[in-house]
Amino acid sequence: MKITNIRFGKLSVPLITPFKTALRSVSSIEDIVVLVETDSGEIGYGAAPSTPVITGDTHGSIMHAIDRVIKPQIIGMDIADLNQLTQRIQGSMVANYSAKAALEIAIYDLWGKLYKAPLYKMLGGGSPQLETDITISVDDIDKMVADSLLALEQGFSILKIKIGKDIHADIERVKAIYQAVNGAAQIRLDVNQGWTAKQTVFAAKALDNAGVQLELIEQPVKSHDIDGMRYVTQRVSTPIMADESAFSPKQVIELIQTGAADIINIKLMKTAGLSNAIKIADIAALYDVECMIGCMLEGSIGVAAAAHLAAARASVICKIDLDGPALGQYDPVQGGVEFNLASISLSGGAGLGIQSIKGLQEINGEW
Ligand code: MG
Repeated sequence: MKITNIRFGKLSVPLITPFKTALRSVSSIEDIVVLVETDSGEIGYGAAPSTPVITGDTHGSIMHAIDRVIKPQIIGMDIADLNQLTQRIQGSMVANYSAKAALEIAIYDLWGKLYKAPLYKMLGGGSPQLETDITISVDDIDKMVADSLLALEQGFSILKIKIGKDIHADIERVKAIYQAVNGAAQIRLDVNQGWTAKQTVFAAKALDNAGVQLELIEQPVKSHDIDGMRYVTQRVSTPIMADESAFSPKQVIELIQTGAADIINIKLMKTAGLSNAIKIADIAALYDVECMIGCMLEGSIGVAAAAHLAAARASVICKIDLDGPALGQYDPVQGGVEFNLASISLSGGAGLGIQSIKGLQEINGEW
């Protein structure tokens, strides 16, 4: 099964409610879809969103990197030579994490199709059922409490609360949600780099003193502030998780070895695809460090690949934060992983199991 061509499409899905973090606010899921064609007629599907303030990648940069730089280096290569292919993709240029991720997702989809097995089985097997948390966007206290209670009604048992705007208001937000939820769900906080190290220690202690029990605090400080992350991790009892500070396997080794984080959040758009994400999961397992599998605000093609990895590395990827597709008003992808509120079900189809994509707009030429 040899690669003959790579094409692009665009998928747009309106959100049920606008998504707000300390960094941005958006109202729809917009993905670039990468279609890798082969001489056997099989097509591999990959996708990536635009995340300029997180990875630096935009739709235009993703297509340009693949079309002009990576594609000429992998046309004609055989899907059976998976390791050689992923090495070629990773070595083709520096950075451009989302471009490489979208392409690798399509290549791994084809690898499963070549051997007629679902991707999670090709990666070692596991349970095809996962349970995800749901993101509660940062907003007024009343709105966040209402969203949290609605999530409980919908069957979610883990809430990921987005904060990081104003530390005192944030503490009040978390206290109010904790009280309203009343033990019916676990609570994770995602600060999205919104606090300083000292503020984080202050907030964690204040919440602790108020009797608020948190599962973890995610990326409280700026992504480059590894010393700050370590300062926090060494002073608070709540586990601290690295997200925007943890892109590559080498960064993860440093975070773990220097005691800067207790948990690592793996996202394919940060690791530049599945090959490095697998390495990170295996590195964390060596150190008995747990991982979360996360996603950007993105649709069900890229998130399906993350779900397959989580199923196959369930012993170390213990926390699932793959609610991106469920935040959309509908899923345009048929036959792949089914995202139904808290429940994620992997299909038995080969690769990612995708059969068709509704509303895919072909992109030709200029971008
Ligand atoms: Mg995060």
